[in-house]
This record gives sequence, C-alpha cells and structure tokens, in this order.
Amino acid sequence: MRFAVTSRGDETSNALQKKLINYLQEFDLELNEETPDIVITVGGDGTLLHAFHRFHDRLDETAFVGIHTGHLGFYADWKPEEVEKLVIHIAKTPFQVVEYPLLEVVVRYDDHTRADRHLALNECTIKSLEGSLVCQMDIKGEPFETFRGDGLCISTPSGSTAYNKSLGGAILHPSLASLQVSEMASINNRVYRTIGSPLVLPQHHTCLLKPVNDVDLMLTIDHASLVGKNIKSLQCRVAEESIRFARFRPFPFWKRVKESFIGD
Ligand code: NAP
Ligand code: MN
Repeated sequence: MRFAVTSRGDETSNALQKKLINYLQEFDLELNEETPDIVITVGGDGTLLHAFHRFHDRLDETAFVGIHTGHLGFYADWKPEEVEKLVIHIAKTPFQVVEYPLLEVVVRYDDHTRADRHLALNECTIKSLEGSLVCQMDIKGEPFETFRGDGLCISTPSGSTAYNKSLGGAILHPSLASLQVSEMASINNRVYRTIGSPLVLPQHHTCLLKPVNDVDLMLTIDHASLVGKNIKSLQCRVAEESIRFARFRPFPFWKRVKESFIGD
C-alpha cells in the first residue's frame, strides 16, 4: 500500500508527520506523494481540506484519514496519542471506506470562452467585494428569487457544521446526498424579498446563481478564495464524485457533532 502524510506545518504536526512516516515504512508500506492509496493528514480540518484539493484528481483511488493536533478536527478525528494504534490498523487491516458527498461548482464568465469546474468538501460562498450582492437564483431551471445582501453559502452535508452552521443553517447527515443554500444577511422589506430560510436541495437539483449588478465578486471554495470579474453564473449541484474516508472504528457523525459543539 502506498501512503502520503501531510502536515499543517507547525512543529508538533511536522514531528508527528515524521514519526508516522517512519512507523509506516517499518511496516513496509511505501511512501508515495504522487499516487497514494491513503493520505494521512496531521493538523486540523484545514489540513484535510488542503489535502483533499491536492489529490482531487484521484478521489476514486485515495482514502483520507485525519489526525488533529489541537484545534477542532471535525474531519481530523484521530488524536496524536492514538498514532501507534492507527499505524497498526493501517498496516494490518483492510480498512472500510465511508463516502461523503461533495459540491460541484461550475463558474461561467461573460465572454462565454471558459467555464471553471471546482469541487468543494465544505462549501462555496459568493460575496460582493463592494456593496451588496444582488443575484438571481434559479432552482432546477426555474427562477426562485432575487437575493440582495452580503452573500450566499452553498454547503455540503459534511460542510454543514462549518460556515453554514454560523449562518444558522441546519446540520445535515452526510448520508443525505444534498446541498444547502444559506443566506448571509439578506435584505428583506417591501421592495426586496428572499425566502429567509436555508434550503436543502437533493441530488440533481441545480442551484444557479446569476449576479445582477456589475460588481467584482469574491468566491470561496473551502479555504481558497478567488476574486471573480465578469462572472456570468455559478452553477451548484451535488457532484458525481465523493470523498472517501478510511474508517478503522465506528465514530458516528452525531457523536462527532456532540463532541465538537456540545462537549463530552
Ligand atoms: P479556519 O479559519 O481555521 O476554519 C474555521 C474553523 O472551522 C476551524 O475551527 C476549522 O477547524 C473548522 N472547520 C473546518 N471545516 C469544518 C467542518 N466541516 N465542520 C466543522 N468545523 C470545521 O480555516 P480553515 O481551517 O482553512 O477552514 C476553512 C473553512 O473555514 C471554510 O471551509 C469555512 O467552512 C470555514 N469558515 C467559517 C467561517 C464562519 O464560520 N464564520 C468563516 C470563514 C470560513 P480546524 O481548526 O480543525 O481547522
Ligand atoms: Mn483551520
């Protein structure tokens, strides 16, 4: 089996990364940064998000597992003191795989010349760099509303505990292949009207966002942000691809939610 280990880059995580590489090599596993079967991330959720994007071209062949060194670690759910146990699991037992849905975002530009396709593990957000975002939202090909406000967040089920949660969105179990649209400070009065509630869309229901005013936009895809000029539309739906997590022990989603947000 080929493995890669990524680190947040701080001293603790780097030391643990080295330790893991040595241990796994002692078990005759092959260190391979290009085509790993398993990617172990050391740091936090941010580290796992980075690793996901680094290996997004081979999601079918890669399984992820995260160790958290401080911070929250919603995806990165192994503790540093469990490293020996994890290494033995990886080396000795065929692991189970749990798949979580992803978000596909296709960005189209005014000049029609190109379309960029992105995958998000947590979410995509759209905001205006200056003034309010005004944007037409179509659901499944039908006009739904004109949004006016700070921005919109389109999240995956596993990303529903991240930015989406801060916006009052619901927490969705990752077995529900869906996406959630939540609002950032929408303007609602006699003139402007939005639904106001987060929306959950099933697979194959596309949410199309078309900016109306001519402003520069800021898009984020997970941790990465890009300034968008001349964006015609953003097409969001549940992706065909999914992320695969290596599972060595049961750790139910709701238990993870409880430990992360309520405490033990
Ligand atoms: P960050 O600023 O370190 O992330 C913010 C927090 O979100 C961290 O505590 C992070 O955990 C946690 N987190 C990430 N994914 C999560 C998930 N699926 N469920 C629960 N918590 C999660 O930046 P980052 O590490 O690069 O992560 C990028 C993410 O930050 C974005 O995808 C977005 O969801 C989130 N974010 C949230 C807000 C907000 O809530 N107002 C604003 C901007 C961005 P770790 O400490 O373990 O990394
Ligand atoms: Mn982080």
